[in-house]
Amino acid sequence: MTRSGYSDDCEYLELYRGAVRSALRGKRGQAFLREMITAMDAMPVKELAHGTLIPAPDRPEKCCAMGAVIRSRDEIDRAVNAKIDPGEPHEVARFLGIADSMAAEIASINDDGGPPGETPSERWARVRRWAERQLVATKCPRCRGTGVARPDDPRGDDACRKCGGKGLVSAEDAEYG
Ligand SMILES: [Zn+2]
Repeated sequence: MTRSGYSDDCEYLELYRGAVRSALRGKRGQAFLREMITAMDAMPVKELAHGTLIPAPDRPEKCCAMGAVIRSRDEIDRAVNAKIDPGEPHEVARFLGIADSMAAEIASINDDGGPPGETPSERWARVRRWAERQLVATKCPRCRGTGVARPDDPRGDDACRKCGGKGLVSAEDAEYG
């Protein structure tokens, strides 16, 4: 039993991977990934738990990557009251404001993406690396530089690392737009 609800149907899976990819690379998905990275970096104990969406008040460190976001948004109470079913990606996604496929993907990466016997701190490091890898390269309209904006850049998500200029756009958008 997995939280992601993924099936073994191949054709369906191919369509599904496309949906996951566009959700992750879209503006909302990228913003959430950055928020999740920042929330994970702010965890006092850098560990992630398997399958635990909502951190318990007495064990705030025991949660999954999306739980870290709920915690950093200070929405643990709201999440408890909303009675979200952690096994239902649609409910999790709606609560977090992301696509269903993205909530399922993050649950799958968090819970099932690691080797057997992975420790909570190894899980944290693995999910952190995964999240950073999902950030798409950006292009700066001022200096024409490319690169991934730093999730923790105090100048904002769209600040260029090279020249400090604002208004980075994803390299894909820059190519086609
Ligand atoms: Zn620049």
